Amino acid sequence: MSLNVTVWNEFRHEKKNEKVIAIYPDGIHNAIAKPLKAAGFNVTTATLDEPEHGLTNAVLEKTNVLFWWGHMAHDEVSDEIVERVKARVLQGMGLVVLHSGHFSKIFKTLMGTTCDLKWREDKDRERLWVVAPGHPIAQGLGEQIVLESEEMYGEHFDIPQPEELVFVSWFSGGEVFRSGATYKRGLGRIFYFRPGHETYPTYHNPEIQKVLENAARWAAATPGSVPVYGNAKPLEKMPE
Ligand code: ZN
Repeated sequence: MSLNVTVWNEFRHEKKNEKVIAIYPDGIHNAIAKPLKAAGFNVTTATLDEPEHGLTNAVLEKTNVLFWWGHMAHDEVSDEIVERVKARVLQGMGLVVLHSGHFSKIFKTLMGTTCDLKWREDKDRERLWVVAPGHPIAQGLGEQIVLESEEMYGEHFDIPQPEELVFVSWFSGGEVFRSGATYKRGLGRIFYFRPGHETYPTYHNPEIQKVLENAARWAAATPGSVPVYGNAKPLEKMPE
């Protein structure tokens, strides 16, 4: 059965900034969706200005993996929708948080830390080193991905200790950053992936697209046992 992937984007820079429009004329969400569709997933998109930000109960109910790109309008995402997404993650929906999504309400609430970091927009070269070569998210990659121009994100990145660290970035300005980090929350799998500043063509890069495809596959829930909570009657005869 093919995975249902929903790509969420705030879709604001692409309406205002000529430089971003030139790189992503159909919006970042469609650039992210394209390789995922090519990989055979059922992909739909959702954006901030749609009713309920495009994330209705019906949409989330059938979503196996949700991708999240946001930057300038994190505060406009309603707390009710954030709670709804969080509940679905705890039930097993995968979540892939991209780039400036580190400051999204959904990522911060799931991490429980500030998720703050260092940044600079100055055409740094980025080398994304694969530090977990056997990890499914690194499947098909070489030992590194080189992005000729990207925004720099530097340590310290205030996240909980990643459960698995898949990528570490080096930037030409000298900084390093934990660029690919996995977590589990409840039954859900979460992957944070750093690259993807809106003024660079990062999501058109085939190796970055491969990571997105791998991440969708990895983050999708595998059918496991169904947990039962609450007061429980003994299953065995109890001592008098
Ligand atoms: Zn950025």
